[in-house]
Amino acid sequence: MTEDLVRELELLREFGFTHLDIRHSAPSTQHSALDLLGELRSIVIACEKCRLSKSRTQVVYGVGNPNADLMFIGEAPGRDEDIKGEPFVGRAGQLLTDIIKAMQLTRDDVYIANVVKCRPPENRNPEQDEMDACRPHIRRQIEIIQPKVIVTLGRFALQSLTEKGYAISNVRGQWLEYNGIKVMPTYHPAYLLRTPSAKKEVWADMKKVMVELGLPVDR
Ligand code: URA
Ligand code: SF4
Repeated sequence: MTEDLVRELELLREFGFTHLDIRHSAPSTQHSALDLLGELRSIVIACEKCRLSKSRTQVVYGVGNPNADLMFIGEAPGRDEDIKGEPFVGRAGQLLTDIIKAMQLTRDDVYIANVVKCRPPENRNPEQDEMDACRPHIRRQIEIIQPKVIVTLGRFALQSLTEKGYAISNVRGQWLEYNGIKVMPTYHPAYLLRTPSAKKEVWADMKKVMVELGLPVDR
């Protein structure tokens, strides 16, 4: 017990208090999602758990609303993200921003992060051991934010998060589940840049997400 607390209690006794009812006191260990994400950030930005720590410019942790109902999860930073330290800020990122706007939301309403937080050299695919090393970070972010819906973008986001070998072409557009949270797997925006005809499928998936979140769907 600290000296201050002892003095405080002695003072209360002098005032005639013989019992203290602490049943309804707020627990002192209650931290906001903002605080917890901040604490986690300081751990993750110093992470050297895999080889990508050697080639990165900086860790790309995640951005958005700590209390978001909707989380978008991508694969790994590219060149622009590695430079800026923010996920989805390059060409694919602009397309994701457009998708978010079409849902009548902003990037500040949702939370955006990747399953691998450092850029793979030359934008190669992330390797299995890199996804394994990084998985605890995204899982903890989800645990803190507690979104209602997660949208996974592309194959690596879905496979790494769930640790299942789903083929995106089989499960795209179908509700899956991760730790009691609804997961909507859809295509990666970089794929949409190469295959614009697939945009209508992604929009159909986003409409399901909007219905689930109680957002107005007028198209
Ligand atoms: N692609 C991703 O998967 N994540 C980013 O942050 C940028 C591009
Ligand atoms: Fe750590 Fe993930 Fe970066 Fe690897 S990719 S160094 S596990 S933060």
